[in-house]
Amino acid sequence: MTERTQVGIVGAGPAGLLLSHMLHLAGVESVVFERGNREHVGTRLRAGGLEHGAVALLERVGLGARMRKLALSVAATDFRFDGCGHRVDFRAITGHPFTIYPQYEIVSDLLEARAAAGGEVRFDTPVRRIDGLESARPVIHYEAGGSVRRLECDFIAGCDGYHGVCRQAIPASVQRVFEENYPFGWLGILAEVAPPSLEVAYACHERGFAMQSFRAPTISRMYLQCPPDDRADNWSDERIWSELALRLDVPDRPPVARGPIVQKSVTAMKSFVVEPLSYGTLFLAGDAAHIVPPTGAKGLNSAMADIALLAPAFAAFYRTGRREGLDGYSAACLRRTWQVQRFAAEMCTLLHRFPGASDYAWRLQREKLAYMTGTATGMRTYAESFVGLPFEP
Ligand SMILES: Cc1cc2nc3c(=O)[nH]c(=O)nc-3n(C[C@H](O)[C@H](O)[C@H](O)COP(=O)(O)OP(=O)(O)OC[C@H]3O[C@@H](n4cnc5c(N)ncnc54)[C@H](O)[C@@H]3O)c2cc1C
Repeated sequence: MTERTQVGIVGAGPAGLLLSHMLHLAGVESVVFERGNREHVGTRLRAGGLEHGAVALLERVGLGARMRKLALSVAATDFRFDGCGHRVDFRAITGHPFTIYPQYEIVSDLLEARAAAGGEVRFDTPVRRIDGLESARPVIHYEAGGSVRRLECDFIAGCDGYHGVCRQAIPASVQRVFEENYPFGWLGILAEVAPPSLEVAYACHERGFAMQSFRAPTISRMYLQCPPDDRADNWSDERIWSELALRLDVPDRPPVARGPIVQKSVTAMKSFVVEPLSYGTLFLAGDAAHIVPPTGAKGLNSAMADIALLAPAFAAFYRTGRREGLDGYSAACLRRTWQVQRFAAEMCTLLHRFPGASDYAWRLQREKLAYMTGTATGMRTYAESFVGLPFEP
């Protein structure tokens, strides 16, 4: 017998789980397919910072309780270059803080809410392909119990990340891809040590970019620019700490705090957008549709902003039969997405040391930083983009 649901969702990352949760609140049925297991999905260490629009959305959909208890509020970014710290107080400029609440906590809250509501999230269930997108009965083909089975849907939401299968189901003739690969990566570490301050520091140093952040009052999250094909095991703990100190320490700020490193990995830097974000009865959201280099802390926020548009569009369709929200989803999302791309790419090029860049380019880069951190216009431009554009148009 063929199974059926209203919205079939591929991927139980923040985008897929948030969509399923919001559809449930609107009385719309969904099934989520996830190839990983629950433990893996609920503990993956990724993004850590929320824009005020993301915080407001989580509150609005009833997921604010743990966040209010555990989250930390950040008021300023400290940019370090040419041997000095330059603090931009984005909260004073915009009235909004940036909220540190790790992605794994959001995913845990969503998994708990889905379980409490009897929501269907099928772990260890990879989707092999989707088809029928031009019809009113698209089908998800998923693997379970050693065989491939079918789920018929009214719609499919492709929330399956950059390497997922959904985007590939859109014919190449109607898809346009925009992408940029950067000539560096990030070595990211998690360390059991209180950060020297509850503010985020970005260093633009001759030896490369470095970042000091945190996930909890006693857990630091730090990054170092490295070659894109570097391996985490090339970096001993001693090498990591001395490189972080070289790049981040400046005379008028507390020095990098050392502690046991409990996780390290290398991530490549990429910008990517596919247009359009919908095709027939398929709608893409989150990393399936767009990727940003993490310098602007936008990946998770963008995924949530997509769902802030997509969930009400589905809800309106089922409530009234009207398709305006669904038909306008791609264009509305792309308007915001490209502004996010602009900011993330600007921050990425402003803060990293580009291999082979001329002395002129390197000098100009720091002059741009001086303008951004030393003039009212520069600081406002940074602050508005960093705390985030509105989630709804
Ligand atoms: C290593 C890493 C570090 C990051 N660090 C930061 C950061 O510091 N700051 C920041 O803002 N952003 C960061 N990001 C980006 C941020 O985590 C993502 O933007 C965010 O996870 C996007 O959510 P999503 O739900 O769209 O996709 P994902 O979280 O990728 O979720 C997609 C889900 O789909 C599942 N899936 C894929 N294919 C299939 C299939 N065929 N069948 C079933 N399930 C499938 C995957 O297992 C996954 O669970 C990072 C990303 C990575 C990969």
